Amino acid sequence: MRRKLAAGNWKMNGTRAALSELDALTVSAEGPEVAICPPATLLAEAVSRRSDIAYGGQDCHPHDAGAHTGDVSGPMIADAGARYVILGHSERRADHHESDADVAAKTQAAWKAGLSVILCIGESLSEREAGETLGVIGAQLDGSVPEGATAETLVIAYEPIWAIGTGKVPTTEQIAEVHAFLRSSLTERFGEETGGAIRLLYGGSVKASNATEIFAVADVDGALVGGASLKAADFQPIIDAL
Ligand code: 13P
Repeated sequence: MRRKLAAGNWKMNGTRAALSELDALTVSAEGPEVAICPPATLLAEAVSRRSDIAYGGQDCHPHDAGAHTGDVSGPMIADAGARYVILGHSERRADHHESDADVAAKTQAAWKAGLSVILCIGESLSEREAGETLGVIGAQLDGSVPEGATAETLVIAYEPIWAIGTGKVPTTEQIAEVHAFLRSSLTERFGEETGGAIRLLYGGSVKASNATEIFAVADVDGALVGGASLKAADFQPIIDAL
């Protein structure tokens, strides 16, 4: 049984005042796992504030330490008390020109630090319209996920770039097609047991009004939520729909 996961990606949003949103969430040990990935500046304070939520960083450097101004390493994120780190988000791939090889190197660094990686992949609108979606996603999966993945150390988030922050959501058939492809690719590569146990999240304009429909799709084990994770009142119904 794969435990459902509702993960919130706060992106570059929130000062310490935003941590009060954590207090307002209701989570239970029997329900889905809830994770919040706040900006790095808030990580340690979030961890000390509430321990029944898991936390994650939004990126890490491939090296553990050194002369890399402005970067944060896997060991630093782990030391702050995080369990997860989001890697390969399309905003990082676009803003910081991260390649699949970069994401693979970061994933290995995160694993070495004891973190579990929420690894993001997804096609652009032009790739979808050209019928290249599965080819693009397959290449990203092959290039970004290193050998040695396990269900404890890897979560895959399918985030179509055109659905992020746009209010546009793929049809349930489109989500089902990609998630089935991800499941069979992971099973082929890592074996039935591991490939069958790695959790697959959908991300891109998930909100209270579409969560139930999306979560009913086979092989959707949860969501990676951006805008609707910033306020407890918006995130709670998504958690409750899982
Ligand atoms: P939105 O939920 O704001 O569309 O963002 C999705 C996302 O990019 C999560 O990582």
